Amino acid sequence: MTPISLLAHAQAAIILAAIAALSLKLRFLDPKGVAASIVIGYIVIVLGGLSYFTILLAFFIISSAVTRLRVRIIGELSIDKDWIRSWRNVLANGLAPTLTILISRLLPCDERIMAAGYLGAVGTAFADTLATEIGLFYRGKPRLITSFEKVEKGTPGAVSSHGYLGCIMALLITAAISWILGAAPPHLAIMLIPVGIIGTTIDSVLGAGIQGKYRCRECGKIVENLHHCEQPAEHISGLKWINTHMVNLISTSIGALLLAAVAALL
Ligand SMILES: [Zn+2]
Repeated sequence: MTPISLLAHAQAAIILAAIAALSLKLRFLDPKGVAASIVIGYIVIVLGGLSYFTILLAFFIISSAVTRLRVRIIGELSIDKDWIRSWRNVLANGLAPTLTILISRLLPCDERIMAAGYLGAVGTAFADTLATEIGLFYRGKPRLITSFEKVEKGTPGAVSSHGYLGCIMALLITAAISWILGAAPPHLAIMLIPVGIIGTTIDSVLGAGIQGKYRCRECGKIVENLHHCEQPAEHISGLKWINTHMVNLISTSIGALLLAAVAALL
């Protein structure tokens, strides 16, 4: 491992302080979410570099802005997800890319494979986030990916054409930025698109299959949170210890492994 220069530490501190202040002001993250994002951002900047950080930053800013737009147009009650993101959300999306960088710095590793793993993880996280947000604009009822039955919006594992449109948009943006910044060779940037689609689909399959699901005792809605209508909801299916954040962590890790495998083979 090469020693990290003082300049890199100073650079990271200044950039992250500015982003933290902006995230709090615009309420993109809650205070614990900001703390988690500083840890992740620091590791990515000092061990990965500014190109890798820019890709992560683009994901964060675009998805936060799209969430804000969705809340303004549809309202926050359209889905039972916190619109001010928490540390759980930051870790669910940021842990796999950060671990990719950490592992590659601690163990001898081909730079190309590390880049691919990082891109696969960030791309899948961004694709899944934008799929959820754009999917909420779908006018009809989405279908469950496993049984194709129509379900309420926000049901874990629900998919729609709008959702996949959001997924592809996120992947095109990530691929374009990585290409422009030279963070990935063209063929890997292109391969990110099918890998991200697979990662997002796996996220939906896990959401429909093993994620814990609950029924609200008050309004009867099937939800992914332990509480609804200000009271504990009844567990109806899935594993209790697998929540939406855990599903995210699994699918982003699969995205990282898939693109790293593509890089190793091509
Ligand atoms: Zn309820």
